[in-house]
Order: sequence, then structure tokens, then C-alpha cells
Amino acid sequence: MTHYSPARAISSTMNALVLLGPNDFEVNEVTVPEAGRHEVLCEVHSVAICGTDKEIISGNFLKKGWPRGYPYTPGHEWSGVIVAAGEGAAELGFHPGDRVAGTAHDGCGYCRMCAIGRYNLCENYGHEELGHHHYGHYSTGAMRQYHNTSIKSVFKIPDSMTLEQAALVDASSIALHAVKRAGVQPGDVGAVIGPGAQGLLAGQAAFLLGASRVIMVGRGERLKTAEAMGFDVIDNSEADGPEGVRELTDGKGAHFAIDTAARGTTPADAVAMTRKGGRVALIGVPLEPCVLPLQRIVFEEMDLFGVRANPGTCEEVIPLISEGKMDVDTVTTHTFPLSEFAAAYETFTQRLDGALKVLIQPNTR
Ligand SMILES: [Zn+2]
Ligand SMILES: [Zn+2]
Repeated sequence: MTHYSPARAISSTMNALVLLGPNDFEVNEVTVPEAGRHEVLCEVHSVAICGTDKEIISGNFLKKGWPRGYPYTPGHEWSGVIVAAGEGAAELGFHPGDRVAGTAHDGCGYCRMCAIGRYNLCENYGHEELGHHHYGHYSTGAMRQYHNTSIKSVFKIPDSMTLEQAALVDASSIALHAVKRAGVQPGDVGAVIGPGAQGLLAGQAAFLLGASRVIMVGRGERLKTAEAMGFDVIDNSEADGPEGVRELTDGKGAHFAIDTAARGTTPADAVAMTRKGGRVALIGVPLEPCVLPLQRIVFEEMDLFGVRANPGTCEEVIPLISEGKMDVDTVTTHTFPLSEFAAAYETFTQRLDGALKVLIQPNTR
């Protein structure tokens, strides 16, 4: 029996990031939630700001219902320590003191998609009354001192993993899911558009599945980090991305491409830099339509894969990170307390000071 005492006694109120409208947020005092049935209450250690958070904070996903209204607390890439187990949680193995990595999707557990393991596509999406949650999107997120969450959305981490690393489990799990969707084979040459944190993690995941080379296509200081991590790079502010990839692959193009940028023509660029019979996975969420070369996709038997978060890959990346096979430390560039969220958000969105992943720590001052 392990005993755990939280860093401080849990009071009835806590600080949370609260969105009041598009691009309008403040850190406010709110009520500490309780852990419901099959839920745990966690003291949040670190929350990574994600590209999706930027769109949610900007109000660009309001039509999708992210969020459904205001006030709203976002945050879905997080880590923490369980401080209370709700009804039935301890019986299922979740105890106060357990260190966990958290994720966004919580399938209902009963529909066909959940039954076949694709809970990120739950048929009961949006129905909290049926047990579905999408934390940090329409369900209350983790950008707060204490977060109540389904035990289906937390994963225990080993002692060898820091809680800062654990906050990168969600992003890493999506990277791994993307390269699995793209069917990466040993020896493949891959291309990744967008050398941000998601792209650098996807490139590493591709190496873990056996890719021989991964070409990062993007611009700015991030390409230096990509080069230092062992990727080939193409600066698309100076050269055409698809042409550059073809030049590096004997004119054929990559076996697979991953688009993490989803801006303007990047989905079409991903297709253009991929060879006959190649595979293209789209991680980023496009906000505008993009014309794709459908005849080429048909005649050259190309495969296109949408990637929505991940089903089940959090548990796969945890040992890869804790055993040093996936480097999340290099992509974690900044840490701020919750009280400095505005500065953290500016650092992330303006890519200040080489920013990749920026962590918020709600329980540090
Ligand atoms: Zn995210
Ligand atoms: Zn379901």
C-alpha cells in the first residue's frame, strides 16, 4: 500500500485558464471538481500547448463545437499525479499517487467503433451523458490545477519518465499513429511537411518503424533542430518542397509523406512529393479547402489517410520515450507557470526564441 500526500491540501477552489470568448482569456479562480464514477482527480503537473489549442482559443473551431460555449477551459496534452479516485477507479487499478500521462479522447466504450478499438471515432461523440468526452475540445480541459478525467484517458508512466516528458505523450502518440496509418516499411524514404514538434515527433516515429531517411520540409530556425536530430531538410522558403524531395529521391518522390502543417496547399504538396503507390497521411486539420490531383491519386494507386488524434498509441510511446528511443526533450523548449499563460501563448504562437512545445505548469509559481 503506497501512501501519497499531494503537494498541498486540496482546497475548494483553484486557478484555471478560462476562455471568455475568441482570443479572450484570463486565469480565474474556479471550483475544484470531484472525481466521478470511473474518474480520477489529478493534480496537473504540465500541460503542453498544441496547435489545436491555438485554433480553439482563436474561435476557429466554434462551428465544430470546440468549445460549445464560454466560459471554457482548454488543455489536452498533459501530465499529473492522481490525488483522488472516484467510484470504481481504484478497483480498475488507478490509485492516488499514480503518475499519469493524459490524453484528449475518451470513447463511450460501447459503440461499434469503440468495440473495434477505434475510440477516437466513437459513434457517441459529443454525448457526455453516454460516457463520451473529448477533453480540451468540448469537455473541460486540463489547463487548471486539478483535472477530473475518465480513467480511459490516463496512462500510468514509469518512475524513469519525468512529468515534463509525460506531457508530450499525447503528441507523440499521434505521431506514432500517423506513421502507422501511412504504413511505413523498413527502408522507406519519408517526407514530413512542418518541422514543428508534431513533425519532429512523426519523423522520429518513422525512424522507429524502419524508415531509412526522413526529409523535413519547412522553414526557419526549426530546420536547424531537424538537422541536428538526423533529418534531411528542405527549406521551402528557398526551394519548392515537392521538387526538392524528388531531387533527393532520384526523381521518384518519397514512399510516404506526412502533412503536419495543413495550411494552404500543403496537403497537395504532400501528394506531389510522394511516389507512385505512395502513402500520404494528413495530421494537421485543414481550415480551408485544398484541390488534390485526383487523377494522379487514382492512376498511381496512392493512399490517403486522415489521422484523428490516436487510438491506443499512448501506451506504445510511453516505453519508447522512457527508454530514450523517442526524444521529447529537444522539442520541449519552454516552461511557464499558469499565471504567465499570456506570455507562454505568445511564445508558442509567435515561435519566439526557437519555441517548439511550450509547457504550462499550473501548480508552480
Ligand atoms: Zn494536441
Ligand atoms: Zn463509442
